Amino acid sequence: MEANKTIVRNVKIEDRLYDLTLDLTTGCVAEIEVSGKTMPSAADFARVWDADGLLYLPALSDMHIHLDKHFLGEPWKPLQPFVTLPGQLEFETRMLEALPTRAAERAHRLLQLLLMNGTTAIRTHVDVDPKLGLSHLEDIVEVREHFRGRMAIEIVAFPQQGLLRSQSISIMKEALRAGADYVGGVDPAGLDGQVDASLEAMFELGTEFNAGVDLHLHDPGHLGTYTISRFADLTLEASQSGRTAVSHAYCLGQVSEAESRELAQKLSASQVAIMTSVPIDRPMPRVDQLLQEGVRVHVGSDNILDAWSPFGNGDLLARGSRLAEKFGWITDEQLLQTYPLISSDSLVPKVGDRASFSLVNALNARHAIAAVPPREAVFSGGKLVGGRWHVSVRQDQIVLA
Ligand SMILES: [Zn+2]
Repeated sequence: MEANKTIVRNVKIEDRLYDLTLDLTTGCVAEIEVSGKTMPSAADFARVWDADGLLYLPALSDMHIHLDKHFLGEPWKPLQPFVTLPGQLEFETRMLEALPTRAAERAHRLLQLLLMNGTTAIRTHVDVDPKLGLSHLEDIVEVREHFRGRMAIEIVAFPQQGLLRSQSISIMKEALRAGADYVGGVDPAGLDGQVDASLEAMFELGTEFNAGVDLHLHDPGHLGTYTISRFADLTLEASQSGRTAVSHAYCLGQVSEAESRELAQKLSASQVAIMTSVPIDRPMPRVDQLLQEGVRVHVGSDNILDAWSPFGNGDLLARGSRLAEKFGWITDEQLLQTYPLISSDSLVPKVGDRASFSLVNALNARHAIAAVPPREAVFSGGKLVGGRWHVSVRQDQIVLA
């Protein structure tokens, strides 16, 4: 009896069925055998699952999400129309101050929902500013430990109130000492009013703490493209290629195609990634063009039921589907090019890979991105952590782990 191993039989990978042996000690795939060749004995495993032909999908990576300021599990809160960014920031601060729960408790709820939907890795932006201090950040660092082995969590210290505007440089340093992995920033023009100084401050922090940089950029048009161009220059100057990203970057969809292509080439050369939540209510980066030019693009949920938006359900497969549909990706090749934007793993697992994946009822991976079937089962590090086989989670009553 191998108490530290489970087997999932009859898993569809491409067009064949396989039995996957999962090692619970290492959290990795120990064996992959064509189904039906040998009949595994139930006595040999801690648990035997029968997938009965369900399709294998790789675990999903949500590369832009806020764990600390959503209202999941809280009573419904009416929102107000967005007028100005400073006005919205005050509104958000008031709403967060009125919450009876700590960020840690709320983060638990959202992480549980993400696991249910097949996401096992995230990058989360956590608010820090002189008033809030490290209260959210310390909670998220604690929650990261609790979820270790099930959810890989990268933390961005995020000066939501403006890095310079809210005089957050010293609290950002504390956040980077306290466990944040990345330096965040937001609208160097629109909020800080000093594009170069704001960007330079971010990169100085990155160099001091050997941390990557991930900027929230909503600044529009040429203001935004100037900012991205400087961001790419600073990435090269700081030898940070491959470790920096611009999130949102709506401006790339607002300037002409020729202008955004030129900037895409610069992003590709400096290895700056673009993170998008695939907005459908405003222009967004031309993802086709970015991919053609070799820019890394990743998808994230961003806001889910918070002061900014009541929308979102933490289902990254659905978000990837929205991207494919929005850009008219209908051929097999186009549908498949969605996966690297929502997952860092392959559609075909190998022995030694981390045993993190979903099982869904779909004809194949192309069909799954188009149809967004429910996750029947989600495994992370070899353990069942989500999907219908696990527990059902109601959107108004999130079950705690
Ligand atoms: Zn965000």
